[in-house]
Amino acid sequence: MLQLDLTNSIKSIKKIKAKNILLQIPEGLKTKVEGIINELKENGLNVITSMDPCYGACDIKQSEAKQMNCDAILHLGHTKFVEKSSIPIVYVPLKYDLGDRFERITKIIIEYLKDEEISEVGLTTTAQFLGYLPELKKELVGEKIKCIIGKGKRVEDGQVLGCNYSSAQIKAQTIIYLGDGLFHPLGIHFSTQKNVIIANPLILEINTLNEEKDKFIRQRILLIEQAKNAKEYAILVTTKEGQNRITKALKIKKDLEKAGKKAKIYSMDFISQESLLGINAEAFINTACPRISIDDYFNYKKPIINYTEVDYMLKKKSYDKFNLAIVY
Ligand code: SF4
Repeated sequence: MLQLDLTNSIKSIKKIKAKNILLQIPEGLKTKVEGIINELKENGLNVITSMDPCYGACDIKQSEAKQMNCDAILHLGHTKFVEKSSIPIVYVPLKYDLGDRFERITKIIIEYLKDEEISEVGLTTTAQFLGYLPELKKELVGEKIKCIIGKGKRVEDGQVLGCNYSSAQIKAQTIIYLGDGLFHPLGIHFSTQKNVIIANPLILEINTLNEEKDKFIRQRILLIEQAKNAKEYAILVTTKEGQNRITKALKIKKDLEKAGKKAKIYSMDFISQESLLGINAEAFINTACPRISIDDYFNYKKPIINYTEVDYMLKKKSYDKFNLAIVY
């Protein structure tokens, strides 16, 4: 079950003497927004809630907080990401309480590693399960399995984000990903080239990426090759502070023009097919969150690739060394 504990964050807000709060809430928690506002109000805080979509800790609404005369941001659902801010930010990550599932998935992991004769692993996960990594390490070490929880850049130890796999850049050849879904495990594989084992504590299953990684790379190559046929590109830049890469966009524009292509830069807060109506370019280059072009590419009417994939399109890099990493 997902748990949100506001107690410590209310203490942190009081410590910095903030009174007027801009509340940022992820889409999945919006149905609980009234209860959260009431709890904050009962603690003497004045709350203005930002209702724009918020998908990550990179999406911090500093300008909106100032426009709304707020003196701090309460950002729910994610861990710290933005390093410099003109306004105090208090983060409240969502945490999973796995109950006895943790013990059960640990047993499943140990059995699997022993069957496969794997004696050294790295441990990774997302914010929701981070609290379980030290305990998992302890259990594995107790079974004589060496464990590394990597220190990343701008993330907690062992934490991965869709744009940041720095904590997985470790010596172990096998990385365990504690969590669900394929997006992060694929990201770990394509930014480290290591074997990834997905240990899903929700359905108590272990999986590898054998088929998925081939399917994924074929999909990416197809999109990149489609984008290669374009004569004119739209380079998309978001104004979201933690995802803004105007410098990269300008560099890519230059590279494309050098290669005889045309390119224009478009800025917007939220990138979606609807916001791109009227653009004549035949392909999009996304410089914002990589999930837009990986998880959502089928929602766009023209091929959309990440800016890190332009080098493959311009044949500066070969697909043999395909790397998904966007390292901060
Ligand atoms: S850029 Fe995307 S993957 Fe990275 S933190 Fe933001 S929402 Fe998550």
